[in-house]
Amino acid sequence: MPEDRSAALAELAREIDSCRACPLGHARRRSVPGEGSADAELLLVGEAPGSSEDEVGRPFVGAAGKLLDVLLGLIGLRRPQVYVLNVVKCRPPDNRDPEPSEISACAGFLERQLALLQPVIIAPLGRHALRAFAPEAKISSVHGAPYHGETRQMPLGSMLFPLYHPAAALHNGALRPTLERDMGALARALPAARSNWQAARGLSGEASLLREDQTADREQLRLFESEAQ
Ligand code: URA
Repeated sequence: MPEDRSAALAELAREIDSCRACPLGHARRRSVPGEGSADAELLLVGEAPGSSEDEVGRPFVGAAGKLLDVLLGLIGLRRPQVYVLNVVKCRPPDNRDPEPSEISACAGFLERQLALLQPVIIAPLGRHALRAFAPEAKISSVHGAPYHGETRQMPLGSMLFPLYHPAAALHNGALRPTLERDMGALARALPAARSNWQAARGLSGEASLLREDQTADREQLRLFESEAQ
C-alpha cells in the first residue's frame, strides 16, 4: 500500500504541476505539491509557497522551513519522517495572501492528498492553513492542543492539532517558546491520537510516526514523550 500511495502522490504532483486553473499557475516558477513519507503519521500544512520554495519546488526550504526543522528535531523527528505540504501549491506574487478563488482552485488537490495520506495528526501551521480545516477557529485560541470544534475535510479518525506558523515566530521572537512548547504538546498527544485513529478504523496494534528502520529516532521520541508527561 505505501508504494501505491507514493505512486498516487507522485501522479497527483504531476497533475498539480500542469494545473493552470488560477493565475498563480501561470505566474509561478515551480509548483510545490508537497513532500515527505507517504506513510507519515504527522502531516504539517502550510499556507502557500514563498520565493525560496517557488525556486526549488519544495515546501518550507526558506527561513521558516529551517525553524520548522529545528522544531521537529525537538521531538526527535526529521523531515523525511513526516509529510509537509501547503493549502495552495503555487506561489502568490510578492508573498501576498492567496485569494479565496485561488484557495478554492487548489482545494481538490488538498482533498486528494488528505485522502491518500490519511494522517494520524494534521497540524495546520498558522491561521490561513487552519482556516482550510476549521474556518471558525482562531489560531491564538486553539494552538498547541487537539482541536475538538467543528472541522471539515478531516480523514477518518485524524486529529487536528493547530500550531503557529514558524514564520510568525521569526517575526515575533516571543512566539518561539510557545511554538516549542506546542511541539512538545503535539508529541504528548500522539499516543492518544494514534489509538483514536486506529479505533476509528477498527484497527489495533502499534503504529508509529517512525518507520521500522528508525529505531534510534523512535527511542528519542519515546524519551521525549515520557519526559514531557
Ligand atoms: N510558508 C508556507 O506556508 N509554506 C511554505 O512552503 C513556505 C513558507
